Amino acid sequence: MMKNEFSLGPKVIVTPFDILENYSITLKKDRISSIKKFETGHKVDYQLDNLIIYPSLINAHDHLLGSYFPRVGDRRPYLNWKDWDDDLKSSPIYAERGKSENIDMYYLGSYRNLISGVLTVSDHIPHIVNDPFISLMPIRVLKNYSLAHEVSDYDLKWGDGVEVEYEKALKNDEPFITHIEEGFDEEAGRGIEYLLEMNALGEHTVLIHGIALSDEDINVMAQNKANLVWCPFSNHYMFERTARAKEILEAGVNVSIGTDSPMSGSLNILEEMQFAKKIYYDMYRETLPDSQIVRMVTINPAIALRLSQDLGSLEAGKIGDFIGIRDKDKNPYTLLVEAELEDIALVFYDGKPLYGDQEYSGLFDTFQIDYSKFRLNNTEKIIAGDNPLNLLKKIRKAVGFEKDIPFLPIG
Ligand SMILES: [Zn+2]
Repeated sequence: MMKNEFSLGPKVIVTPFDILENYSITLKKDRISSIKKFETGHKVDYQLDNLIIYPSLINAHDHLLGSYFPRVGDRRPYLNWKDWDDDLKSSPIYAERGKSENIDMYYLGSYRNLISGVLTVSDHIPHIVNDPFISLMPIRVLKNYSLAHEVSDYDLKWGDGVEVEYEKALKNDEPFITHIEEGFDEEAGRGIEYLLEMNALGEHTVLIHGIALSDEDINVMAQNKANLVWCPFSNHYMFERTARAKEILEAGVNVSIGTDSPMSGSLNILEEMQFAKKIYYDMYRETLPDSQIVRMVTINPAIALRLSQDLGSLEAGKIGDFIGIRDKDKNPYTLLVEAELEDIALVFYDGKPLYGDQEYSGLFDTFQIDYSKFRLNNTEKIIAGDNPLNLLKKIRKAVGFEKDIPFLPIG
């Protein structure tokens, strides 16, 4: 039988506000009950000798239904998202994706996130689409949100209209999420203006992309405490441009990073962090600090998505989610920003082991959790619950050939 509390002794804990050496973390049910400095004689239940642990990552923008590959974009660079969306929906790859059931795209997207250390994902889609799947997924898919698709006269009219949806967000204290200024035509550039007119710009507002934001837009966003989700890989792929990250950060806007769907975006959040750092350097000839990038995938999205009571940092009282990466004598923030999929050595979800290297199977046994095995590139991994290899088989059967899915490189 498991005892009431379980303590772990990692090498370092990145909270991400602080870097704690010689601290233990204790879990009680699904929560963190304490984080304590080691005293002489202090024993833990399990020593994670060479692991640096971090809060589990939050992917602030994805479309799980679009978890497919390769990317689509014959007419790049685009003027706005609409032309890309038209190309997507008329492409053979979209038809191929449609041969699998929607729920399997959700599983595929959830595993894509999980193996990169993301345990919470914002799936931007009307509730009617993802409601049946959320409780079945191996990770947390954001459940409480209101939304619009975009704010222009040609958007896809998701939800009950900006004013109504924003009211819902205030009433339920949930985020109001919408794409904004994802393009360069005159109408796309009016996004912030429209939101202001509709009184829908505040701390509950989460704006995705913002590629065409003007100085005035950025100031108005900062004054109203609206949040931005930056998806540099997808933006660069579709438009060869991305949001003006430096100006936006300097204005004091809360910025998170999102992958977008893999049909235009990065393979995973790890690649997205590396791409964010690279494009920032290319744009400004300045280095975006790794500590800041780590916040963009932990505490910043937790604040934007109204989850910071429970998630986004390692602190007593929060949910027992964390990821562990083997130390390589690097700055701990750099270690995460430069991590590859294989480096995600251990994942705890809701206070229990979910995924990791085979050498941690003893932990799974202690928690009496059944697991299955697969190879990820050159490492042997174990995972609680269903084996994603079965999902791959099912998708390959649906399309009728040995489909390669590079964001789930398992065998
Ligand atoms: Zn999107």
